[in-house]
Order: sequence, then C-alpha cells, then structure tokens
Amino acid sequence: MTEYKKMETDKIDIKSLYLPELEREITGMGEKAFRAKQIYQWMHEKLITDFERMDNLPKSLRERLADRFVLTALTPAQILTSQIDGTKKFLFRLSDGNVIESVWMQYHHGNSVCISSQVGCRMGCRFCASTLDGLVRNLTASEMLDQIYQIQILTGERVSNVVIMGSGEPMDNYDNVVRFLRLISGTPGLHISQRSITVSTCGIVPGILRLAEEDLQVTLALSLHAPNDEIRRTLMPIARRYALPDVLRACRTYFERTGRRLTFEYSLVRGVNDNLEEARALVRLLAGMHGHVNLIPVNPIKERDYRQSGQKEIHAFLHYLETHGINATVRREMGRDINGACGQLRRSYREEPVSGPHPEEKEVERI
Ligand code: SAH
Repeated sequence: MTEYKKMETDKIDIKSLYLPELEREITGMGEKAFRAKQIYQWMHEKLITDFERMDNLPKSLRERLADRFVLTALTPAQILTSQIDGTKKFLFRLSDGNVIESVWMQYHHGNSVCISSQVGCRMGCRFCASTLDGLVRNLTASEMLDQIYQIQILTGERVSNVVIMGSGEPMDNYDNVVRFLRLISGTPGLHISQRSITVSTCGIVPGILRLAEEDLQVTLALSLHAPNDEIRRTLMPIARRYALPDVLRACRTYFERTGRRLTFEYSLVRGVNDNLEEARALVRLLAGMHGHVNLIPVNPIKERDYRQSGQKEIHAFLHYLETHGINATVRREMGRDINGACGQLRRSYREEPVSGPHPEEKEVERI
C-alpha cells in the first residue's frame, strides 16, 4: 500500500494501482467491483485525467473518488520540434512544480517514446547533463505512464515503443519502474508489448538480477561506455561500486532467464574510449555475449569538455567490431537541433526560464 501512496498528500495515487488493487480499494468503499474496471479504463485507455469526465460513474462516486484519490496529470511546459527529423522534445511540469523531459521519435517501425524515470539523477556519469544537480526525487509509476499518455494525446499518434533512457537511473527507482512496466504492457490499457520496451541501466548489479526474475520480456540495455574498469571509472562513478566482470555476469543471467538479447550502449568520446585498442578490448570483453553494441557519438554538454569522436574514428571503431563478430550500429542522432542529450533541455529551461527561444531552436512552442 505505502508504495503507491503519494508522499506529499494522504491521497492514494490511483493511476499507479494495478486493477486488482483498485478493485480492493473500490469495494472497500462499498462500491461494486465493476466500477474499478470502468475507472481503470478511463485512466489507462481513454487517458482521462479528471474524475469529473468519467461520465458513466454516478456523480456522488466521482466526488468520493476525488476526496480519496489523486489523479496525476502532466502539464506541457515546452515542446520543441526538430526540423531535421520531426523528433519532438517535451518538457512536462509535474504537480509539485518539478519539470522532466521526454522525447518522441518517429521510426519506420512505429513511434518511440523515451521517458524519464527520476527528476534528476544521482549516478554522476561525467558526460551526462541529467546528473549535474543530483537527484531531486523518484517518479511514480503514474508519472512515467503520464509521459506516454500525454504524448499520445498531444501528437494524436499511437506509441508503440518505449525506452527508459531519459533522465534518471531506473534501477535506483526499481519498484516504481517495475510497476510502470506491468501497467503499460497490461490490459486494459495501452498494452504496449514488453518486447517493445527497453530499460537502460548504468549497471546496478542487484537491480539487473532482480529484473531478470520478474518474468518480464523487456529488453535490457547496459550503459557500458568502456571496455575495461579503468576507463569506465573515469566516466561513470558507479563503475567503482560494480566491477565489469560482475556487471556482465548479471547481464548474462538476464539473457539466460529472459531469452532477450542485450543492448550495450557505448558513447564514443574523443581520445577517451574511441581508438582501436579499445575496440579490440571490447571485442574480447563481449565475446560470447548475446547482444549488440549501440555506438553513440557523445553529445557534448557545455559543463564538460568531452568531445565527439571524428567520423573516421567512429567508422573505424564500428568496422572493427563488425569484422570481429560483434553486432554493432551507430545510433542515428535524432533531434540534433533540439538539445538532443539527456537532461539538456530541462537544464536550459531551468537556467533561462523566461528568455526567448534559443537561436538554434527552429520551431518552439511555449505553453
Ligand atoms: N541511467 C540510465 C539511463 C540513462 S540515459 C543509464 O545509465 O543507462 C541513456 C543513455 O544515454 C545512457 O547510455 C547514457 O550513458 C547515455 N548518455 C547520457 N548523456 C549522454 C551524452 N551527453 N552523450 C551520449 N550519451 C549520453
């Protein structure tokens, strides 16, 4: 019960409840169980964020619901649309005033949404903008759902893929993330296939092992970024806590338990992890692992002086992996013109909340 109670109020966060939990709550109020299903459909299928609009419920019940439960909703604060590829970045305001960002990308195989799992992050990865001010708080399951629901409402298009690759470390907000995964893939609801959902982690071993036992079919992405602990520790503080052999052993267990091939994210940083010696070490490290490597040219942030590798280095690195038995792709950069890297938009918004649009932002809607 306490898990889905909101911290700042006594009211229960109704959208984070599984249907059987909602049924218990509703029958506990002296109502029939079928009311729970009606309410659940309003929230998770019709994406309604106001009890008043649930017009197949008696008015008195709608009032009692509002007294007992809180129904979360996000307010769009800013929407940026890329002129290059139509990618949209959304800044959403939460009910407590915090802002988070989510990204909507169109691919041939459908629309993909990248969501945040926390406000800020405490993992401290050196190249990442989300972590510069530390962790503010965890997002509830409902607030993760709301990012997808709002984007579906605002774009008028169905979301078919979800990646938890926005701000935050999902394994640092484990219970809410798992609850979110079950709700978004369940029915009634948007019923997004678990195989179309990716959870990205910086490598928190106990979280990976726990997720392996949840009987979920989601893809696990590991933020690797280096072929050895020595380099990895210079980029990611978490590497001091969990050594690579243990992280990879946990990934192997994840594959064995779920049958899902892994994704290894590798952000190429000029002069840090992008030469052929590192490519060679990476091939040795990943030999026999079932997965593929996603090379991401690092997106420079102004607070750090990491630079992107040159095209020549990127392609030489890719070529080395491909010719040595490792499946690899260079991630297509989406929304390059709209503050692409994790957490950058939220930061720029907080730094200059009243200023006009940035010159590079071709189409800016301020709400
Ligand atoms: N906490 C999760 C999700 C983070 S964001 C994790 O660590 O996996 C998703 C990916 O983007 C991670 O691999 C992260 O390391 C990477 N990333 C963050 N900032 C970046 C930047 N400026 N350039 C390139 N990749 C970045």
